[in-house]
Amino acid sequence: MKIITGVGEMQEWSRSARGAGKTVALVPTMGYLHDGHASLMREGRGRCDLLVTSIFVNPTQFGVGEDFESYPRDLERDAAIAREAGVDVIFAPTAAGMYPQGYLTYVNVEELTLPLCGGSRPGHFRGVTTVVAKLFNIVQPDVALFGRKDFQQLAVIRRMAQDLNMQVQVVGMPIVRESDGLAMSSRNKYLSADQRRQALCLHRALQAARGLLGSGVTNCDAILCEVRSIIGREPDAVIDYAELRDPQSLQPVAAAGADTLLALAVRIGTTRLIDNCILGEEN
Ligand code: AMP
Repeated sequence: MKIITGVGEMQEWSRSARGAGKTVALVPTMGYLHDGHASLMREGRGRCDLLVTSIFVNPTQFGVGEDFESYPRDLERDAAIAREAGVDVIFAPTAAGMYPQGYLTYVNVEELTLPLCGGSRPGHFRGVTTVVAKLFNIVQPDVALFGRKDFQQLAVIRRMAQDLNMQVQVVGMPIVRESDGLAMSSRNKYLSADQRRQALCLHRALQAARGLLGSGVTNCDAILCEVRSIIGREPDAVIDYAELRDPQSLQPVAAAGADTLLALAVRIGTTRLIDNCILGEEN
């Protein structure tokens, strides 16, 4: 496995891989890898001849006062996980390499980026789409894999790839959870033992909502009332949003159904966690 930090060197590698007729899969990450990331890598490994993962804590997707500086970073640990998952190249550029002096160009997907995380993190998706567009241009992947844990991000990237005629297949992958249901996240590292226990309220709320729909409740207010009550029982939990939405448009729905998205963002102390499910589906 190679670690490439230079943008030019990564482009050169991609050019020669394509020249040799190889297909390339890309898994973009911010590092501090866990089994959620590894599941994307294993899928990419199976789909293409070569597998690249990027590790880049992208400054343009963090707002003022967010955790850009404190975001966990450990390239040595990440390299061991990536190697085990079959990665051929880790692309770990520097911020100055990605955004050199004089940088002025941003990609913005409209409408889909306004609700949910777009509402609470203004500018976040503009940073995400910009860095992903740059990674697609640098690595030139045939396939790129993203987790449904970041449901809105996946929808936004699919839209961008389609709207800008990017020749990459965007693949969405299931949420990987700890055995007690907590969605894996690099940010789980911030949680104390007690907060870690409280954080289970997100998964519990998703399960309760699924249970309500299963017993015939389709009224959004009734479902969200139960969701809020479950989360509200935890002393350090503050809801950023809890919404039932159409999974394509991300707009509100008149009544909940099997294909409705329940999206949650909850602060446990200072740690903001997200989770979601499609009400009629497992996981
Ligand atoms: P991040 O490093 O948090 O930016 O995540 C990189 C990629 O891994 C994104 O496509 C995420 O959706 C995906 N991912 C993160 N956590 C999980 C998880 N628990 N299950 C599946 N995919 C995940």
